[in-house]
Amino acid sequence: MSTCTALIVAAGRGSRFGGPLPKQYALLAGRPVLRHTLEAYRSASSINRLRVVIAPGDEIHYQAAVEGLNLPAPVLGGASRQQSVLNGLEALAGEAPDFVAVHDAARPFVRPVDIAACLAAASAEGVSGAVLGVRLADTLKRADAEGAIVDTVPRTNLWRAQTPQIFRYAQLLDAHRAAASLGASEATALTDDAAVAERAGLKVVMVEGSEDNRKITTADDLARCVAMETRTAFGFDVHGFGPGNAVMLGGVAIPHTHTLAGHSDADVALHALTDAILGTIGAGDIGKHFPPSDPQWRGASSDRFLKHAVELLAARGGRIVHLDLTLVCEAPKIGPHRDAMVASIARIASLDPDRVSVKATTTEKLGFTGRREGIAAQAIATVEIPRR
Ligand code: MG
Repeated sequence: MSTCTALIVAAGRGSRFGGPLPKQYALLAGRPVLRHTLEAYRSASSINRLRVVIAPGDEIHYQAAVEGLNLPAPVLGGASRQQSVLNGLEALAGEAPDFVAVHDAARPFVRPVDIAACLAAASAEGVSGAVLGVRLADTLKRADAEGAIVDTVPRTNLWRAQTPQIFRYAQLLDAHRAAASLGASEATALTDDAAVAERAGLKVVMVEGSEDNRKITTADDLARCVAMETRTAFGFDVHGFGPGNAVMLGGVAIPHTHTLAGHSDADVALHALTDAILGTIGAGDIGKHFPPSDPQWRGASSDRFLKHAVELLAARGGRIVHLDLTLVCEAPKIGPHRDAMVASIARIASLDPDRVSVKATTTEKLGFTGRREGIAAQAIATVEIPRR
């Protein structure tokens, strides 16, 4: 039975990722991306051993990510990916596996069945290596520096290469050693291990994998990978009428025989919406964040309250799916101002207007709204937030 060691390359600095941590150590569903990748390889019966290549200085992040996995000491990477892989291959010289599966730490969704298929293809007679990939589905265009299309590249037989890239160990080590002596410009063209092997004249084949085996490159990629849950919460507010000639509703000044009385601008619509959003994250109510006893909120424009709630939600990784508002009053008439209120609320909450709904009703002259003593507002916020 032949042996295969997985060499997980986690030495990148991830300049496109941003954030405080390199992407391979960022948390995905509460665990480092690297940990997910290692777990995938541990559950692959075709893999005998695991070794990780890390950047010097990342030891603390690495130890936290591999806690309890009982792995051999990590290998320190070099200035380029190619150098990092070579360091890893050299470190395997003692165990000298028959095959080595080189894998990007930032591809945590690899399936054990695809690893096995890749190893089987690399083991075929006359083949030196195999690369997991997907056939190109999009039309390919070549454009000049100004973006003008020069030609359309036929996509027949074109693939996007992923990892693992599995090779006969001794052959890949030789190919990498030979490539190490290349000049910088020639070495830059060798963007994956298959390119190093191809340059050495080795036969490498493509193996059809899955789009799911995507690489996490940016913080947005990571966000898309996070399982979200939907939450709904309710908000309610009432303000009474006082002397004046306009009411603020949803950030829009609407002419009326009275104004709404309150400590701030008394925008009952924005207050109900703010409480609804705060409710989705269990962050209390508007009075907790903006106490009426605090003089700085006297006459304040309520758009800052709604913005604050949206920011608190965003800080938790959440986003608003929909806001639904119902105003309850005999007057003023809401219909003529509905579109302006939708646009205003959407602008304040940084949403597409089609995610905002404004409705109005009366209470058939019953109760305090029926007696024209004030306006009530009810709001429901629907949000998506990362599952913990
Ligand atoms: Mg209020």
